[in-house]
Amino acid sequence: MENNPKDKKTDSTGQDNNDDWRKRFKDELKPEKMEQRVKKFKNGKYRFSFWYFVLVIVVLTILNFLFLRTPDEVIEFSVFKEKVELGEIKRVKMTNSFYYGMNYTSNEYATQMVNSITDRLTGTDPSVVGGLVYKTVPINDPTFVPLMESRGIEYYAEQEKRNYFLEILVSWVVPLLFLFFIWRVIFKKMGNMGGSNVMSFGQNNSKIVAEEDLNTRFKDVAGCEESKDELIEVVDFLKTPDKYTAIGGKIPKGVLLVGPPGTGKTLMARAVAGEAEVTFFRMSGADFVEMFVGVGAARVRDLFKQAREKAPCIIFIDELDAIGKSRAGAMSTNDEREQTLNQLLVEMDGFDSTSGVIILAATNRPEVLDPALLRPGRFDRQVLVDKPDLLGREAIMKIHSANVKLDENVDLKEIAKATPGFVGADLANIINEAALLAVRGGRAAVSTHDLEEAIEKTIAGLEKKNRLINPREREIVAYHETGHALVAAFTPDADPVQKISIVPRGMGALGYTLQTPTEDRFLMTQEELIGRIDILLGGRAAEQIIFDKLSTGASNDIMKSTDIARNMITEYGMSERFRNVTLTKRNNGYLEGAGSQKEYSESTQQYIDEEISRLMEERYAIVLELLTKHIDLLESITDHLLDVEVVSSEEFMALIAKDEKGTAQLEERKEQDMKVSERAQVKGRKRNDGT
Ligand code: ADP
Ligand code: MG
Ligand code: ZN
Repeated sequence: MENNPKDKKTDSTGQDNNDDWRKRFKDELKPEKMEQRVKKFKNGKYRFSFWYFVLVIVVLTILNFLFLRTPDEVIEFSVFKEKVELGEIKRVKMTNSFYYGMNYTSNEYATQMVNSITDRLTGTDPSVVGGLVYKTVPINDPTFVPLMESRGIEYYAEQEKRNYFLEILVSWVVPLLFLFFIWRVIFKKMGNMGGSNVMSFGQNNSKIVAEEDLNTRFKDVAGCEESKDELIEVVDFLKTPDKYTAIGGKIPKGVLLVGPPGTGKTLMARAVAGEAEVTFFRMSGADFVEMFVGVGAARVRDLFKQAREKAPCIIFIDELDAIGKSRAGAMSTNDEREQTLNQLLVEMDGFDSTSGVIILAATNRPEVLDPALLRPGRFDRQVLVDKPDLLGREAIMKIHSANVKLDENVDLKEIAKATPGFVGADLANIINEAALLAVRGGRAAVSTHDLEEAIEKTIAGLEKKNRLINPREREIVAYHETGHALVAAFTPDADPVQKISIVPRGMGALGYTLQTPTEDRFLMTQEELIGRIDILLGGRAAEQIIFDKLSTGASNDIMKSTDIARNMITEYGMSERFRNVTLTKRNNGYLEGAGSQKEYSESTQQYIDEEISRLMEERYAIVLELLTKHIDLLESITDHLLDVEVVSSEEFMALIAKDEKGTAQLEERKEQDMKVSERAQVKGRKRNDGT
């Protein structure tokens, strides 16, 4: 192999390459490029990564390879020996691993060297130094040295050059790298368990995602029109803040989206940002909670700093409960979370609503939130993003099937009917599953059957998670709610029924009947209290009439009605024996602890218990009678409710009006209402006259 050090000249094109390279280097150093890089770094694009290490190692190895290249052509020892015998080799360097044979002696080499230097000095082309070098793997041949002696060959042994670079690499870098790798894996695991990642320590901003030009709009969110209505104001403010600041109006700083998982809270927040065409800063509550104390707080600070620079904008904190858990009542304190929460509160107080930053947050557990978060000036406005009803489900599926080819005979309304209790995320998943099934089956479009199969799959999953009620339970719930509603409709002075729903809500409620108070109440008469008890008992009474069975679904109603009955007796003095006597003393100073104190004897206690059960018994019988009388109405309204899931007040009243007995009952109630208000008016007039 030829080893000619003198041949290391740059080729003719080298110059151009150099220029090119220099230009590029200059370009890279330009201020705007640097700025870009800093921005990238800030956004966490240049993340410290294991792959950088791999890259470095590869580059080093390649360099090592290039610089320490030895002549790679090795000849056989016999050939080498022959060349020695023939005098082709005049000088031999012996190392442990190789013999190198040179076809020049040291003297010749020295002369060549001198010539070359004088050539260089005199300006002529430098002559060649060195010559051919042969290389062989040595054999323990005792005749070899004598042979060289006899030929008068210069030979010398040399210790092999130690490759310090490689040694360091092997003995230091590799083990360290290995340790580092293990360390990383371990902490990653720990991080996953604790919901944080140690590797991102110190890179406060790595998880703040700022999105601009969102293309999510309100039309992409279906089935929660009421929540949208409430958020439109927020959008309007972000779009035209002047309109509000001119008048001096206050816009909420924080809006909390509350609702079961998968109902589209995150989606809704994005839609708000999209509609308002502002930057959207998103961060999950869990991202704030780090292993190191102070990191979460630093992140909050950073988040708000970035947001203020980008105003108007929206900060969205997903899963707020991860940091916002109530501090009171916790057995162990979590310093980190507390600090983070405090920082959040401080930041929220620190800017006024005219700065154009609005904070949205989402949670599916509003009840665990720290009350401090819900105080005025913070998340004082709550928007419920509830599970969708029939129409909502159909609309959601329409949205998600926009890009999916559906068979002509697919009726999304029917599919919506088959999916009570499903949330938006479930429905999106169903469409996707069905599309996959169609592809797997080689069909050109998604058939009804595909959808049904997808629903079944999802139902199985949801049942495991206890999030669905079965059809029979649904029926019971429907009768129960209709029972409440009917009793409410027929009870004098009761608030009108606004809505009956059997769309399951989060937290255990299977359905609900909503009554809107017609006016603010500070006082309630005995009749009204009893009316409340009646309405509460209506649910269970309806169940008993239809199924002749009791269920656990009424537990909350029973608790509430019993409370009312007890208060009537012990606090309002409305019982036969203790008319106008209070039997409890309320503690209202918080130092004494909330609650009430008994101020009566054992026998009184017995009387109270008996009186409560007597009252309940009496009212239950009356309610049973009322509902039995209107059993047709109970059936027809329940049927309708099972069909549409949510019955509005107009529909409800229309159904009652269709029924003869129902109409008569309503008339009766009206008369009683009239009497009450007449009495009130007369009294009012009298007082007016008097003053
Ligand atoms: P949440 O934050 O309430 O848990 P997400 O907003 O993350 O729910 O919803 C998950 C996905 O489910 C969304 O990306 C969307 O595809 C779908 N989705 C949920 N709710 C709706 C809805 N109301 N309308 C349309 N799509 C929805
Ligand atoms: Mg979410
Ligand atoms: Zn009930």
